[in-house]
Amino acid sequence: MSKEQQAVACARRAFETGRSKSLEHRIRQLKNLQRMFTERQKEIADAIKKDLNKSEVGTQLYETLGLEGEISLAIRKLKEWAAPRSVEKNLLTLSDTVYIKPEPLGVVLIIGAWNYPWAVTIQPLIGAIAAGNAAVIKPSEVCVHTAKAMEDLLPIYIDKELYPVVTGGVPETQELLRQRFDHIFYTGNSVVGKLIMEAAAKNLTPVTLELGGKSPCYIDKNCDISIACRRVAWGKYTNCGQTCIAPDYILCEPSIQDRVIEEIKKSIKEFYTDNPKTCTDYGRIINQRHFKRIMAMLEDSTIAVGGENDESDSFLCFSLFTSPTVLRDVKPEAKVMQEEIFGPLLPILSVSGLDEAIKFINKGEKPLALYVFTSDDKVIKRMVDETSSGGLLANDCLVHYSVSSLPFGGVGNSGMGCYHGKFSFDQLSHLRSCLIKQLKMEGVNSMRYPPHTPKKLGW
Ligand code: NAD
Repeated sequence: MSKEQQAVACARRAFETGRSKSLEHRIRQLKNLQRMFTERQKEIADAIKKDLNKSEVGTQLYETLGLEGEISLAIRKLKEWAAPRSVEKNLLTLSDTVYIKPEPLGVVLIIGAWNYPWAVTIQPLIGAIAAGNAAVIKPSEVCVHTAKAMEDLLPIYIDKELYPVVTGGVPETQELLRQRFDHIFYTGNSVVGKLIMEAAAKNLTPVTLELGGKSPCYIDKNCDISIACRRVAWGKYTNCGQTCIAPDYILCEPSIQDRVIEEIKKSIKEFYTDNPKTCTDYGRIINQRHFKRIMAMLEDSTIAVGGENDESDSFLCFSLFTSPTVLRDVKPEAKVMQEEIFGPLLPILSVSGLDEAIKFINKGEKPLALYVFTSDDKVIKRMVDETSSGGLLANDCLVHYSVSSLPFGGVGNSGMGCYHGKFSFDQLSHLRSCLIKQLKMEGVNSMRYPPHTPKKLGW
C-alpha cells in the first residue's frame, strides 16, 4: 500500500467510527486548530518567510487572522448550521414533517495551492471539520517549508486519523486522485483543475474548483483616481502579485492613463519605498519557473514603472525579485494578456469608455474577480448587470474575500462551487431532503392510487 492509499484508508476507517459526526468532536477539533494558530504563530510565519519572503505581519494579516475568524464563526454557528432546516410545505404534505438535514459527505480530499498556503488549505479544512467529514490534506509542494510545517503541526493538534496530511508533488497528488473520495476540494490553476475533474469523474466524486484567471479592473474617468490607484496598487502588489483575486489588468480611457501611472507610482513608493528590493513588506516570486514565465511576459510591452528584476541564487536574500511594474499602452495581443499574470506586472489597456470595457471583459473567460472604480452608481450597476464573474467589488480590491457571509468562488473557467463561512459548511455537506409522514389519513391518498377512473378523480 502506498502512503497515499494508507492515508485515505486511515481517514475512511476513522470516518466509519462515526466520531467526526458528533458536534462536540467537531467543535473540539476546531478549537484545537485555533490553538495551533495561537501557539505556533512563529513557526508558521517562519516557514512562510522562507517560502515567499512574507513578513510576520503580512502572514497574520493575509493568512492567519482570517482563518482564526472563520474558525470562531464555525464554532459559534455550528449548532445552527448543522440543525435540521424546516422548509415550506405544499398542500399534499401539510400534515407531514418536511426538512433538510445537512449530513457529512465522508472523506474529502483537500489539495492546496502555494500562494497563501495556509489560507487556501486550512479554510476548506475548517468547512470539512465543521460539516463532520474526514479529510486528507495535501498542501502544495511548492511551499516546501510550509508543507513541512503543516505535516508536523496538524497531527499534534487535530485528530490525525480523521485528518491525515500527505505531502509530495505531482506523482503523490496523482496517486491520491486514483483513490475514491466523497468530495475533492482543489485550489490552483485551471489546467490542473481539468485533470482533477477528470479523475473525479471516474467515481462521480463532486468537486469544488477554486481556480484563477485574469481579473479585470475598470477605472472610470469619473472617480477619485488617486484613491482608486492606491487601492489598485495594494491589491496588485500584495504578495508580489501572486494573489488569485489580484487585479490582473487595468482598463481605462487614454485620457487618464498618464494620471493612473503617476498615482500608482506614488503608491508603490509610499508602500515599498524607493527601493522595494530591501523593503520587508514586499514579497518574492515563488520559484525560478514562475520568475522566467513572468519575465517572458515583459518582452513585447512598454514599461512605464519598475521593470527591474534579479534572479540571483535563491539562497541570497534578493533572489527572484521583480519590482512592482506598470506597463502602458498594452495591446490585447501582448504576451502579458494571454494568461493570468500571477506576478507584480500591471498592464494598462485603453478603452473608449464603459461600453468597450464591458465588451472586452465579456470576450474573455469569466474571471474570479471584477473590479470597477467610479463615483457613478450607474457605472457600477451596468457592470453588475452586464458582466459575470466569481465576485464583483466596486471601489476597492481583495476585501470581499474577507466577508464570511459572501460566497467565495469562481464561475466558468475561474472555478465551480464556493466556500467561506456557512457556504463552506454547505459545500461540504449533503443537504438531505427528509419528509416524515405518519401511517394515518390514508383517505387523502386515494386519488393517487390506480385505477384512475373519472369517478374517483371527480371528472
Ligand atoms: P500549485 O502548483 O501549488 O498546484 C496546486 C496543487 O495542484 C498542488 O497541491 C499540486 O501538488 C497539485 N498539482 C499540480 N500539478 C498537478 C498535476 N499535474 N496533477 C495533479 N495535481 C497537480 O499551485 P498553482 O496551480 O500554481 O496555483 C496558482 C493558481 O491557483 C493561480 O491560477 C491562482 O489564481 C489559483 N488560486 C486560486 C485560488 C482561489 O481561491 N480561487 C486561491 C489561490 C490560488
